[in-house]
Amino acid sequence: QHVTIAEAARLFANHAHRIAVIAHVNPDADAIGSGLAVVHIAHLMGKEAWLSFARPDRTPETLQILPGAESIVRPNEMPDDLDFVVVVDCGSADRMGELHHLAEKVPYTLILDHHRSNDGFGTHSVIIPRADATAQLVLDVLDELDLELTKDIAQCLFAGLLTDTGGFHWGSPRAHSDAARLVQAGIDSDTLTRQLLDTRPFSYLELLATVLQTATLIQDAGKGRGLVYATVPYDVYRHARPEDVQALIEVVRTTAEAEIALVVREMTPGTWTGSLRSRSLVNAAEIARHLGGGGHRRAAGFTVQSTLAEVLEKILIILSDPPLHDGHRALN
Ligand code: 5GP
Ligand code: MN
Ligand code: MN
Repeated sequence: QHVTIAEAARLFANHAHRIAVIAHVNPDADAIGSGLAVVHIAHLMGKEAWLSFARPDRTPETLQILPGAESIVRPNEMPDDLDFVVVVDCGSADRMGELHHLAEKVPYTLILDHHRSNDGFGTHSVIIPRADATAQLVLDVLDELDLELTKDIAQCLFAGLLTDTGGFHWGSPRAHSDAARLVQAGIDSDTLTRQLLDTRPFSYLELLATVLQTATLIQDAGKGRGLVYATVPYDVYRHARPEDVQALIEVVRTTAEAEIALVVREMTPGTWTGSLRSRSLVNAAEIARHLGGGGHRRAAGFTVQSTLAEVLEKILIILSDPPLHDGHRALN
């Protein structure tokens, strides 16, 4: 059942007491930031809440700086007697991983998300595809509940807004006005941005050197549109921090000749996860959907069990007749 922010806020205020907050697998800053913000909101209201995600088994190091991150629990540490689940930034039920079982045990599962492809899998869902980040939905809930935007909450929300807009490269007007509010709430946006986007171990440079050697440009991947891709085989992946591998796409996608950028990483032997980015014309979410994944028009992802050659072949076939998106403002 689709509900408004106001209805979601009322539901949360009236029916949530012991709350599981679930972020998507391989959580990013929007998932963790939004999830922690919901936990802080619950605490402000005298409720109990715990954030978790199914995998991997630790919080990405870059996100451990967010207030409350130290109390994120593993799925098996989630307490009993929960009566409410909030799922943040999660486009489909399978992205909850094993935690989807929790949703079946409680009367209310509220989805807060901004993925266009979200089919509204909870008992109640707020899905706003035009939102830059799920963090904005959480901010709306906070406002609806008339709660104070504390510095801790502002930091968590800023993390999601910052990263889902590519460091405000593709933020809507609202993203910028929300950012102004968050900064006014007392956060140190300079330090936070540096820590979230610009701080990596030296080994990242070595990883970059290795992976960029695999970079390949196919100038004419389809209708004159280029594809650039780089690959991270398991042998390289297992020695790197997952969040550093995830960041490689930010370098690869700068290729001017390519409409589509792709980094595929072998997270376990034979299982390839791809990060897709589109410059402006091609709908990355549609390409990902053909491979069983999803996402946004400009940023999408997928996971497949097959050989690297098969993954690349499939992408080239899809790109030979690329899915374009409508509208001139291609944000989501
Ligand atoms: P990233 O490349 O940063 O991992 O993911 C980019 C975006 O694609 C994410 O914000 C997420 O919305 C989406 N995404 C990534 N992997 C998957 C997937 O396996 N399934 C779905 N539905 N969406 C994904
Ligand atoms: Mn996300
Ligand atoms: Mn998001």
